[in-house]
Amino acid sequence: MSEKEEIRPAQITDQDGHPYSAEFGDIYASRQGAVGQALHVFIKGNNLPQAWQNRPEFVILENGFGLGTNFLTTLKTWREDLNRSESLHFVSIEKFPVSKEDLLRFADPDVASETVELVQQWPDCVPGVHRLYFDDGRVVLSLYFMDVAFASKKLALRYDALYLDGFSPAKNDAMWKRSVLTSLSKFAKPEATLATWCVSSHVREDLHNAGFEVQKVQGFGKKSQMTVGIYRPKFSHRRSQEVPYSEKYPDRSLLIIGAGMAGAACACEFARRGWKVTVIDEGRVAASAASAIRYAIAHFQPAGDENLLFRLSRAGFDVLKEISRDFPEYFHLNGLPQIARDETEYKKWERWFQNNKPFQFPHNFLRLLSREEVSDLIGYGTSYGALLHPAAGLVEAGRFVRERLFSSGALCLFNTRVSSLRREEGKWVAYGNAGEELARAAVCILCPGSSLLKIASDNVPVTNWHGRLSLLSGEEFPKLKGAMTGPGYVINDGDNWVGVGATYEREGASMEEREAHRQNAEKLHKMFPNAVFGTAIGFYEGIRSAPSDRLPLIGSVPPGFLIEGFVSEKDSVNDTLFLNTGMGSRGLIFSDLGARIIAAQVTGEPYPIEKDLLDAVNPARFLSRT
Ligand SMILES: Cc1cc2nc3c(=O)[nH]c(=O)nc-3n(C[C@H](O)[C@H](O)[C@H](O)COP(=O)(O)OP(=O)(O)OC[C@H]3O[C@@H](n4cnc5c(N)ncnc54)[C@H](O)[C@@H]3O)c2cc1C
Repeated sequence: MSEKEEIRPAQITDQDGHPYSAEFGDIYASRQGAVGQALHVFIKGNNLPQAWQNRPEFVILENGFGLGTNFLTTLKTWREDLNRSESLHFVSIEKFPVSKEDLLRFADPDVASETVELVQQWPDCVPGVHRLYFDDGRVVLSLYFMDVAFASKKLALRYDALYLDGFSPAKNDAMWKRSVLTSLSKFAKPEATLATWCVSSHVREDLHNAGFEVQKVQGFGKKSQMTVGIYRPKFSHRRSQEVPYSEKYPDRSLLIIGAGMAGAACACEFARRGWKVTVIDEGRVAASAASAIRYAIAHFQPAGDENLLFRLSRAGFDVLKEISRDFPEYFHLNGLPQIARDETEYKKWERWFQNNKPFQFPHNFLRLLSREEVSDLIGYGTSYGALLHPAAGLVEAGRFVRERLFSSGALCLFNTRVSSLRREEGKWVAYGNAGEELARAAVCILCPGSSLLKIASDNVPVTNWHGRLSLLSGEEFPKLKGAMTGPGYVINDGDNWVGVGATYEREGASMEEREAHRQNAEKLHKMFPNAVFGTAIGFYEGIRSAPSDRLPLIGSVPPGFLIEGFVSEKDSVNDTLFLNTGMGSRGLIFSDLGARIIAAQVTGEPYPIEKDLLDAVNPARFLSRT
């Protein structure tokens, strides 16, 4: 990320009762009232509430979140409208996020209670897409904390209405550049509307050239005019002609193969949207394979640059944190130390903090602890200092997966193996070992875990890794509580369950038991030089399946990806067969992110992550290289 693209916390001062930006030398909204401006310019200017009435969903894109008045006023208007859309997605781009304190300090009395709701979920100043949920998930606010030029290339959505806000072109021309307006217009649905208080001739001309029919109408307060527009391009993009999903899948039926973390996540995501979900698994119960693990750790993978894994794992971890609120009994997210593997790694981390690279890590996001600090924290002498992930920790994985699958209300067929899939009369039909029909549905998601290897074609670079966690008697670790990661990881549930591991053994080439314990002991000693490995009482073991680039496989099944014996190549061309798999050692943080990506792909909602991250997990990434 270049310096120009870096996000920074907004610096706001009070100027005669109005929030004032020192950065841009301008006030945040009209002196005649921010809510009044939101109602007149953006809501009325986009023909709301009429435009969203009786629609299944409505998507608004905003350039410049500021203090959120446009969002809060839109939320309030939507709530008051009895004919509102089933759901509302509000996506807003902001490079200078405000603080919680400023949101409250400058809250408009007309949206005071909505502001409090916003503040309760307000994210730290961390780049990326942050999702906030209101009204049981019917309203989703996606905050793109990034530079607008950057964001306009990374959006993964199509909108019905565009709010062009932000400081004036004279104060902040980056928001109003032709390239930005042209990029943003490409995400408009046919007949999408736009509104802005800005009447600058170059802005109107650029919007016109980008496909909007624009006109001036009466403005708000002291501004006599404002601009509104309708997207009617001379040449329509291919994506403008997509069929709405309610017409594509009138019966909203979904078949999921695999009842582990990935399958359960998909079941919940679609059941929440009113889909009829059937889950098939060859195991006796849900979470009977890799996801059976009693305790697993969840955290993002920090780095000194904004690489794909850091960004993707942040997005996945945020989704998991949000889900944890519904299942608090299985989540122990009270801090996870990541102990450096050596002095060089610790020094590298120190430089991240000294130079604020890749960005300034907020206190609640990531902290650097010296060896003494981390040893004090966990009550055990460590080899080196650590990173502390304050919001990360331990998850009772197997129980969580079973509970949520049960709570989704999905129909589950256990002890049932799917041998092949066929597309018949617009439905996916699953067949069993004896060629009997098991189930049928409009959409099918494959979550087969390590069984992917049995059905993937030879050119898909996936490896199955046998993982073993040595189980030790808890008595040897009286003070070491919770979870720690680093060169390996250690989990102590405080109730005599201690796991140390885990090994990475190529499936089919597993080592002797004694050697597996020895390798796990070595990992333990790298983290805690004085720890006693003691007597290992056994293993927890499972198979994790990981693509060669260690990123999951999430998205449509590309033709040629699966063997003909499982699904015919001609059948997998129609974008109704998906994969949510290849989770490697990060099933917890990637499963739900994957479910949300697929749900967005099916329903046409905005995606939860940026376009380049979608490409990075798309299963087609491997086939396009061959
Ligand atoms: C030792 C070890 C430690 C780990 N630690 C962590 C950790 O700390 N944190 C973390 O996030 N992850 C961890 N993982 C990884 C995590 O367990 C996996 O990423 C996750 O469980 C994968 O979930 P899944 O749903 O993709 O696969 P699975 O849980 O394996 O589920 C796949 C399901 O598909 C079913 N299936 C497959 N094919 C068919 C078919 N044809 N018909 C019917 N059913 C079928 C299988 O029966 C199985 O139940 C660990 C893994 C191991 C082995």
